Amino acid sequence: MTTIAVLPGDGIGPEIAAPAVQVLGELLGSQVEFTEFVFGGASIDAHGTALTDETLAGCRAADAVLLAAVGGPKWDTTDPNAPRPEQGLLGIRKELGLFANIRPVRPIPALYSASALKPEIIEGTNLVVVRELTGGIYFGEKTRTATSASDLCSYTTDEVDRIARVAFELAGRRSGKLASVDKANVLETSRQWRQVVHEVAADYPAVELEDVLVDNCAMQLISRPSSFDVIVTENLFGDILSDEAAMLTGSIGMLPSASLGTPGTPGLFEPVHGSAPDIAGQGIANPLAMFLSAAMLLRDGLGRPVEAAALESAVDAALADGLRTADLGGSATTAEAVTDVLGRLH
Ligand code: NAD
Repeated sequence: MTTIAVLPGDGIGPEIAAPAVQVLGELLGSQVEFTEFVFGGASIDAHGTALTDETLAGCRAADAVLLAAVGGPKWDTTDPNAPRPEQGLLGIRKELGLFANIRPVRPIPALYSASALKPEIIEGTNLVVVRELTGGIYFGEKTRTATSASDLCSYTTDEVDRIARVAFELAGRRSGKLASVDKANVLETSRQWRQVVHEVAADYPAVELEDVLVDNCAMQLISRPSSFDVIVTENLFGDILSDEAAMLTGSIGMLPSASLGTPGTPGLFEPVHGSAPDIAGQGIANPLAMFLSAAMLLRDGLGRPVEAAALESAVDAALADGLRTADLGGSATTAEAVTDVLGRLH
């Protein structure tokens, strides 16, 4: 029996988590069991902490974790000692050892007009950003005096090796092109990153590796995004480049993501967007990023590529036939979007 831990979280989270469970249930039938756990702000309200031991244990025991979104004004605070919903996110990534963040960017032809770029530039774009998630400057030592501050950026060769392998494996399953993004003309961490990536490349002779400086990559993502396939980069560069790449699609309500650890540990699958407190409770949230996250869970978390492709095709077809929720300029409700996609699964 396959088990999926479901973390609905806050805001629109429960409104999009329930339909995703429905869709996964439809695709996997009785072979799957869902267990729901309280997480984020909802967990703070119930237990005083964003991530309880019970939720963590439930996620560890599952084959994959499906998360909607956390946070909201109710838990915004300037009190450094008060619990915050985002602590749940950081906690679960750390506890599950999720070091690889995978964000596919595949603008859907029916939505080209929603992008800030011209259709002829985004046409044919189908890329994935693989971001190292647990090392680098975000986790290095921090210092602060009245007149200076510093953040240490450090990586071990093992950390670079394992993220590089995730990216090479992925590139090997796709078109076989990998861009490794660094700032090797300036940074020592980048020079070592580049060296390790080239050592790993020897194990993947079928993958074509290209080194790209981060500033150049930022420009090329806007000028010719369709030239990229898989992009692998360190934590800070990946944070910025994945948000830049996300804008190619024109709507945040469309983007899925996966965070993966070592084989054998459950991956975490979630939409890129937040809990959208401004529209929570109105029944108008776009469930498609959540559905596409469920598709990533099927492919990368459970090894079910056929069901993943069926779900992605259903989303594409619904959009091609005109499905538009409010964030896409239309008037379809969440329930109407769910019915539309569910009806196309077979
Ligand atoms: P957000 O992504 O929640 O919302 C940004 C805008 O996009 C809003 O106008 C919202 O209505 C819209 N939007 C987002 N998802 C949508 C969807 N599925 N359908 C329709 N419209 C959608 O970002 P924000 O407003 O900056 O943050 C709101 C809360 O979410 C904050 O508490 C923030 O900390 C949290 N957050 C959580 C995560 C996460 O759980 N991984 C990520 C980002 C932000």
